Amino acid sequence: MKKRKLKPWVVIAGILMVLILSLDRIEVFIKENTIPNYRELNKIGYNDDQIEIINEHGLEELSEILVEEYQEDIVEILTVPHYATLKGIGYSKTDLETILLADESILAKLEGYAFLNQWKTYLAEPMYRLILDTGYSEAAADVLLGLSDETIKDIVSHGYDAKYEGLVTSELTILGDLPTYLTYWKKVPSATLRVVQERVNTETDRSYYTGITASETSKGNLILVNKYFNLSSQFVPSALTTITVCGKAVMTKEAALALSMMCQAMIADGLHPKVTSSYRSYATQNTLYNRYVANDGKAEADTYSARPGHSEHQTGLAVDIITSTSSLSTFKNTKEYQWLMENAEDYGFILRYAESKQTITGYISEPWHWRYVGIETAKDFNTKNMTFDEYYRIYLQ
Ligand SMILES: [Zn+2]
Repeated sequence: MKKRKLKPWVVIAGILMVLILSLDRIEVFIKENTIPNYRELNKIGYNDDQIEIINEHGLEELSEILVEEYQEDIVEILTVPHYATLKGIGYSKTDLETILLADESILAKLEGYAFLNQWKTYLAEPMYRLILDTGYSEAAADVLLGLSDETIKDIVSHGYDAKYEGLVTSELTILGDLPTYLTYWKKVPSATLRVVQERVNTETDRSYYTGITASETSKGNLILVNKYFNLSSQFVPSALTTITVCGKAVMTKEAALALSMMCQAMIADGLHPKVTSSYRSYATQNTLYNRYVANDGKAEADTYSARPGHSEHQTGLAVDIITSTSSLSTFKNTKEYQWLMENAEDYGFILRYAESKQTITGYISEPWHWRYVGIETAKDFNTKNMTFDEYYRIYLQ
């Protein structure tokens, strides 16, 4: 058979076909041989555009992010300011779409933090930023953000110390008073958190008988009268009632009834309680205090006697109890005192001036002085191990 010669155009067409079919392969071949790491990057999943940008940015410094696994947002990582750092901190790609809209200065600061759970608040609230930028944790910032801008500024003006965290998050802290706690803590750096709270909560961060406020008489059985809260010379409790179960006692009707029941219970237990003092008018207290001052001097008198208007006895809610055979100074060693320590709360009475709280109350230990507050409060108070002065500020005011 005669061999047919291929026509030239068919040959050319064939060559062209082969060329066209291999162009892609050739292109890849070229890239593999001109772009560093092309084959590896392509294998992980980067497309040519991405590889081009990766290449533009140089591979060496990026090798950790790149070679390990495919990053779909590699272009953002390489080209958008702050993106890589913030992503490294833990923000997701979706988070970053919002975060990166923030001001440059905010982004720069955000880079200084570990992942913030409340980054949205950080972006939106200047006060939250201020608190965090001062050093407080997110937990503390949550609490502080509830305060007025003015108070927050005052708080951060005191700077930051790790011990402030506990102060901010403690339930015994009155938040509005935070600047006062901080001021006191700076003045007395060795004080423990509890002492700082105790001092400020009872106002004993300043001298006794300074910054005096009128007692809230509307509080009834829960009224606070101390060296910072006083009663006017006109104040006389309503419905004063006299009982004589354990000596003569004059108290408000409710307190007198409670005392009467308490004394009866003590007597039934074979004890001999004896009331030595109960309601005292402003005038009586005035006479008493002045006599003590004349005898012992003002400084000493102040440790055991209240100035007129500052005595709990004027409320008609306080009673001094001893026994027929003991004095004030020996009462602490009696069974009657022991009984009161165990049972007085059942009748609504609390020990007001404990030995361990002298620096707060400003009075020497008075085992004989019992204050009526009502049964529920007395029982709750006894679980707290604090002075009534502090209890009042935290739970009753
Ligand atoms: Zn008393």
